[in-house]
Amino acid sequence: MTHKVLIMRCDTYDPDRIAGIVKEGMEELGVRPTGRILLKPNVVIAHPELFPHAFTRKEFLDGVITATKERARDPEEIAVGERSGIIIPTRFCFKNAGYPEVIRKHRVKTYYFDEYPHVPVSLKKQEALRRRVFIPKPLSRTDYLINLPKFKAHPWCRLTLSLKNYIGIQDDRHRLVDHNLFLEQKIADLQEVIQPSFVAIDGIVAGQKMMLTPTPFPLGAIVMGTNSCAVDTVGCHMVHVDPKDLIHLRLTSERGFGPMDLDEIEVSGDFPLEEVQKKTEGFQFCMERIDDYFREGSNLRCTVGSFPEKHSSDYCWGGCPGALQEAMHIYRAYLPDVDKRMKKIHFVVGKVEGPLPLDPDEKVIFAGDCTSWEGEIGGEHVKIESSYKTVGEVDEGKTRSNDMLLKTFRALFHAFRNRASRYLHAKGCTLSVADNVHYLSAVGKIPNVTLDPKLMIPLNIYYWQMRIHRFLHRFMR
Ligand code: SF4
Repeated sequence: MTHKVLIMRCDTYDPDRIAGIVKEGMEELGVRPTGRILLKPNVVIAHPELFPHAFTRKEFLDGVITATKERARDPEEIAVGERSGIIIPTRFCFKNAGYPEVIRKHRVKTYYFDEYPHVPVSLKKQEALRRRVFIPKPLSRTDYLINLPKFKAHPWCRLTLSLKNYIGIQDDRHRLVDHNLFLEQKIADLQEVIQPSFVAIDGIVAGQKMMLTPTPFPLGAIVMGTNSCAVDTVGCHMVHVDPKDLIHLRLTSERGFGPMDLDEIEVSGDFPLEEVQKKTEGFQFCMERIDDYFREGSNLRCTVGSFPEKHSSDYCWGGCPGALQEAMHIYRAYLPDVDKRMKKIHFVVGKVEGPLPLDPDEKVIFAGDCTSWEGEIGGEHVKIESSYKTVGEVDEGKTRSNDMLLKTFRALFHAFRNRASRYLHAKGCTLSVADNVHYLSAVGKIPNVTLDPKLMIPLNIYYWQMRIHRFLHRFMR
């Protein structure tokens, strides 16, 4: 079977133009949404000043809803559903992304996945990491999924397109399970839950380097298809990535969900692939290890050891190191001089042996459950022990709460208790971006971005709204 993928020109966020292009694409691909239709954008985080390029734009959503309404046959429901990044209430990010006005205009339903119960879904594929995963109830009832990713580079996975956008279907409690050395396998597992019937990628302005704070790249393209693997394969070629290097694509394709070879894909549309490739010659990625990345010009230094799983013993791409990198980029957006302004921190992750090269005024954050080290710090004997749990030892049905207030309190209290010490061990697998934000502020003595009144007041208002709705939805059938 040959899958068709369209690359269409679009250099402006004009909802009418986007609607016309997407409708044309739907016609060419024979797409006819029906039943309970769910549109899943990428709103991992959104803020007009701090994170302007991290999410699927509202004009894009607007255009796709218009096209969906025009092409739908007997729709029972049209809804928009998503779970933003760890601990941030999704309704807060939707507000920052400008979604409520689009949703009101089209009179479609909203499912903030963090406000709904999650239900288990069994996985049948032999290669699956787990035998079940948890997904929000509204997704389990979906007949027709429309996936609307943002075209972005990703510092842990290289690229985030259609497949990676599935990380946003799980709430915090389940999202962090296997979000570590097994992130790529986790993404492949999630594909078994439901496949999108239509994919449209917002590549009008693509994101380079980071996932939360990407630098904009005017790609001027909308990519459409009906198979995630095919769409992601074309997406890889658009920015000179070998699809084999997008590990979750390779794993998903090997499990039979679609192709990763251009010979099996008909690439069409009005924006030829060769022309796109010419345009993206300077497209930037950031797949750098933190011990290289924070080497010069920063009061943050990193020591990276070895990791407990054979398939990735030299680095943990899906966990603590990448979360630190994202947290530092959030601070750089908020406090441009953060690298110099923060007190000296040495971030240690993994199994490290031998003395640490510490300055007398440097504090140490031992990060993550898998981290271990033994030695002297300021004349004190220190022993950090690993408490890493293998996949089989982590029960996905008995996960820890990742509640925003609880997590904030836990991290800040832990840092406060250790304020007089030269070191602390911040546990978690993974230590999330939010955890890193809190520890960097407390240990590095810099203002905590999440406690800035401009952010904290609305964030807390939306947090309590989320809690109330989550409580009410417990009683939904
Ligand atoms: S503790 Fe952190 S670095 Fe270690 S395996 Fe878990 S996520 Fe990776």
